[in-house]
Amino acid sequence: MCPDSLQQRTFRTATADDTQLLGRALAARLRAGEWLLLSGPLGAGKTTFVRGLARGLGYDGTVRSPTFTLVATYKTSPMLVHADLYRLDEGACVDDLGLDDLAAEGDAVVVVEWADRFPQLGVGRNALRVSIDLDDDPGCDVRTLSFARAAGTSHRLWQEVERL
Ligand code: ADP
Ligand code: MG
Repeated sequence: MCPDSLQQRTFRTATADDTQLLGRALAARLRAGEWLLLSGPLGAGKTTFVRGLARGLGYDGTVRSPTFTLVATYKTSPMLVHADLYRLDEGACVDDLGLDDLAAEGDAVVVVEWADRFPQLGVGRNALRVSIDLDDDPGCDVRTLSFARAAGTSHRLWQEVERL
């Protein structure tokens, strides 16, 4: 059997601005229908990274984790759908959120925080996994962002990651 993650690309950022810049750089390379599945502990920088994605797609407004509403959309081109599944029960059916419908209607890029809690999200979707790790030292601002190619990641999307 093939391992889920065949290839990885890793970046280290020293500040929140650097993490946003990485998001901006990736945003310029994304196409509608592509998914980013984010994992990493609270405070790792998932929302900071999404803020960079939104900025890169041309959205200047507020970007915060939709912790209670679960899903936010930004009217960019392509549209950006931003989900935060922290408060969704692990037994819940993530398909009920209608992310696929939103994505299709809006011709959107979809980014999901806490996606690792719902492994089925990666199945059958053109999705890239992004894990963000904190340094062990609590005072340290360094973050490690790893992009991993999964079974469904398209060749096109992975090529764009390799060009970052
Ligand atoms: P999450 O969504 O993963 O819970 P947030 O993006 O909301 O995390 O918060 C990350 C926090 O860490 C912010 O306060 C941000 O300013 C801070 N921070 C410090 N250094 C970094 C870095 N290198 N990358 C991202 N965020 C950082
Ligand atoms: Mg968040």
